[in-house]
Amino acid sequence: MVIKYECRHCHTGLGFLPAEQVDFKRLGVLQLSPEEQNNLISYDEQGSISISVICEDCQEALRFNPNLHGYEYIIQ
Ligand SMILES: [Zn+2]
Repeated sequence: MVIKYECRHCHTGLGFLPAEQVDFKRLGVLQLSPEEQNNLISYDEQGSISISVICEDCQEALRFNPNLHGYEYIIQ
């Protein structure tokens, strides 16, 4: 099983990680509400997990346009 990171804004694939190497606690995922987890994490039929993150480009854009997207969680 792999976990796929994808930018939630531009949908750029940011990489894959074997699930065993991912510490959900460290990602901050467990601090999110179930609703937020639903928005950020999706599961496909093959059992792989996609996590919506923000890539560096979009993070920069957000920094200069903080009102563009409203409040966003940033998982690093
Ligand atoms: Zn992006």
